[in-house]
Amino acid sequence: RAKSLGEGRTWFSDDALRAELTEQADLEAALSDALARGEFELHYQPVVDLATRDVTGFEALIRWNRPRCGTVRPDLFIPAAERSDLICDIGRWVLHEAGRQLVAWRAEGTVGEHVRVAVNLSGRHLARPTLVADVVAALTATGVPPQALVVEATETTVLDGDEVLANLRALRALGICVSLDDYGTGYTSIEHFRTLPLDTLKIDRSFLSSTQAQDEALLGLMVHAAHTFGLKVVAEGVERPEQVELLRSLGCDLGQGFLFSRPVPAAAVAELADLLRAAA
Ligand code: C2E
Ligand code: MG
Ligand code: MG
Ligand code: MG
Repeated sequence: RAKSLGEGRTWFSDDALRAELTEQADLEAALSDALARGEFELHYQPVVDLATRDVTGFEALIRWNRPRCGTVRPDLFIPAAERSDLICDIGRWVLHEAGRQLVAWRAEGTVGEHVRVAVNLSGRHLARPTLVADVVAALTATGVPPQALVVEATETTVLDGDEVLANLRALRALGICVSLDDYGTGYTSIEHFRTLPLDTLKIDRSFLSSTQAQDEALLGLMVHAAHTFGLKVVAEGVERPEQVELLRSLGCDLGQGFLFSRPVPAAAVAELADLLRAAA
């Protein structure tokens, strides 16, 4: 059963697709074929400076355009890909594709020199001895300066072992920005801000969707603690204008969410960039 999300695309209902994908004996083979056939696509969601409304970057979010099925969301296939080294192949593809796209946008004047692209890398890939070489290869092949790349890692991933920490330190030493994704959903400790190799904190959208006064207070504490350790703060899941006011009053630097834009195909970014500039 398909449902429309109003993006002119068909999304399969989670249940139907999940059932189909688990029935499929070899989802890994299907994903590997999908990679070889070019069925993956990146959509991009702007990250906005809450004070100036400037777009400071875009997060690249993967979609699988599955023939005869429509667009498959990452939640439905990334976990399966993460059970094997296929996730590292996907990660390398994402790094190259996002890098190539940013350079193209820069060349055509769609985005300014300060705009960055953020990619999500899985823990399995971040722990690999070849991780830094993979990232450097993508930067070299596409011509993206290290300062224009953001690598997003989740809290659980970052705390998963010394290999990940060493790799993230090496990325930062190259000038690449490291962002802690979905902050607040894992083993949250403020002590981590001091010890982990991080530039940015992305506060999970569950803190914004809550209407409880305690969560508002928690948000303020997180922003303050992050700033104390020199981190920038991005709030995820900004959907309503009054959330922008709240976040600004708490000192939060950046925001990302449906209020500014849903993730859109690369071809829609030029128009989106114009729209956001006009609204700024
Ligand atoms: P994430 O990295 O935390 O990405 C943010 C997710 O929140 C995206 O879902 C985005 O569409 C959604 N989102 C953004 N703004 C709002 C909002 O205002 N309200 C609500 N309700 N949701 C919002 P998406 O694209 O389905 O991605 C889900 C997750 O899949 C990502 O979470 C990330 O963990 C993973 N993922 C996506 N692309 C990749 C990839 O290329 N590689 C890997 N390893 N994981 C990926
Ligand atoms: Mg992310
Ligand atoms: Mg997130
Ligand atoms: Mg997430």
